[in-house]
Amino acid sequence: MKQVSAVSSSQMKAMVLRELCEVDTGMEFNAADKKAAQKGKFARKLLSGEPLPRKSQPLELCYLQIPEPGPKQILIKISACGVCRTELDQIEGRVSPPKLPIIPGHQPVGVVARLGKDVTKFNTGDRAGVTWIYSACGRCKFCIRGLENLCDEFKATGCHFDGGYAEYMVISEDYALKIPEELGDLIYVAPLMCSGVIGYRSLKLTDMEDGKTLGLYGFGSANHLVLQMSNFLYPNSKKFVLTRNLKEQELAKKLGADWAGDIKENTPEKLDCAIDTTPVWKSVVFALSNLQKGGKLVINLIRKVDTDKNLLLELQYEKHLWLEKEVKSVANVTRKDGEEFLAIAAKMRIKPRVTIYGLEEANKALVELKSGVSVGSKVLRIDYGGL
Ligand SMILES: [Zn+2]
Ligand SMILES: [Zn+2]
Repeated sequence: MKQVSAVSSSQMKAMVLRELCEVDTGMEFNAADKKAAQKGKFARKLLSGEPLPRKSQPLELCYLQIPEPGPKQILIKISACGVCRTELDQIEGRVSPPKLPIIPGHQPVGVVARLGKDVTKFNTGDRAGVTWIYSACGRCKFCIRGLENLCDEFKATGCHFDGGYAEYMVISEDYALKIPEELGDLIYVAPLMCSGVIGYRSLKLTDMEDGKTLGLYGFGSANHLVLQMSNFLYPNSKKFVLTRNLKEQELAKKLGADWAGDIKENTPEKLDCAIDTTPVWKSVVFALSNLQKGGKLVINLIRKVDTDKNLLLELQYEKHLWLEKEVKSVANVTRKDGEEFLAIAAKMRIKPRVTIYGLEEANKALVELKSGVSVGSKVLRIDYGGL
């Protein structure tokens, strides 16, 4: 990553992660907790045993050279980029970014600004978007079976390669997606690139069908899109939303949920399918007891936190697992998930609820994501021409 000092037309603004830290929301500790935190009781430890520094500004604004597209690559001028909980996992070391410094962000959408050699799928001016998949090997047994999300060589956008918290990025044309015109304003398209695509994959993995009951544990960016998708795809199904956040319960009802309540509650009917997006373990225990015989729980999350892991000791085989209940996690996404989802999204005119921040306000967006003060999806407006 070459930093440049003088302002010129060949440079871009980017928000860069230089070192792992604990994102300081300024609100999570009371005085007693603060004392304990200073002793390192709560602070996440690095491998060296050193606690991570606490920062309210985890990312640094940098001026960098605009990257050159290599063969088969396109340069995207980014209009907007969604903000995802995975960025918090990266910053706080639960998903170690293999590369530091790194430009995070795996939900960028924009317009193709320049083509590398031998590009055939895109022209300059085309609308393009990127998901979590930056590349895969294309040759291994997983890739050949259409499971490139499980490829050993899977590389993630904004994790292994620089992502969308910047004015420009490069990616192979084979891994960029065309954004249908029907989707309209790119600000509303950005959150679809992760929350929408992975939400769609989670829903597919639950074996959902019209008429089956669906329970959504957690109602952040992904599940508020899954609810809208399932209203469209499964109109005769009952959908129940479980979240401790009262504002999210209200939003769920507005978006057509048949019922919304706290994570601990029993849903009015047993669940055939459930998706858990919360970082805690208690929702897994409650979801399994709420599942119908033969029901399936899909956990859509890259890492769970350890704080309430002891609750797993309450699992009882006959209550939580017997009668053919299934649990499955969802990992990464494939290009096909992205293509299928964008085609459905264009038909149903899905519209995420967004809170908009400037690129330089990325830190504020991350702090607010961690502290849960607003509902829906968070989006960075980068070069916004209203395209
Ligand atoms: Zn994401
Ligand atoms: Zn592979």
